[in-house]
Amino acid sequence: MEIVGIWGADTCGCSFFEAVDETTRECRFIIRDEAIILVGLANLQRLTSTLPVSTWQSTYPVATDKLCPAHEALGRVLLRYNTVLAENRRKNICQSIVQNARPLVTAEQYGVAWRFLGDRSLEINATSMGLTTQQKNNVQAQADIQFGPGKVVLI
Ligand SMILES: [Zn+2]
Repeated sequence: MEIVGIWGADTCGCSFFEAVDETTRECRFIIRDEAIILVGLANLQRLTSTLPVSTWQSTYPVATDKLCPAHEALGRVLLRYNTVLAENRRKNICQSIVQNARPLVTAEQYGVAWRFLGDRSLEINATSMGLTTQQKNNVQAQADIQFGPGKVVLI
């Protein structure tokens, strides 16, 4: 059976309706109309108080998806979901790369060292996390291999 949740990335202001398989926890993008079909309009309006998974946003006064300025032109479609998901994963994978290069870097330090620029490249402040030039170059090279040149920029 599937339940409905709202997922919001921490990489932008977008949020999405998702159908979540209760057994496997696999999530898939759905539009609001499908959420209504799955759980009914009344239940959807109560979604904020019944979210069973702590990682979902629970602060929306009304159960709805949101479009941030960087992605609103894409609309309420799967492409926006996949785009935001990929950006979120890029940020998370880079955290692993950084922490492999310098294990002393904490999640909190990394959490304030990254930001997405206007072209949606990910800027990471290596200096603020104490990376040496060699560690910084190493992380940059790994990020370039993983995501292609220009997708991640270490400063
Ligand atoms: Zn967005």
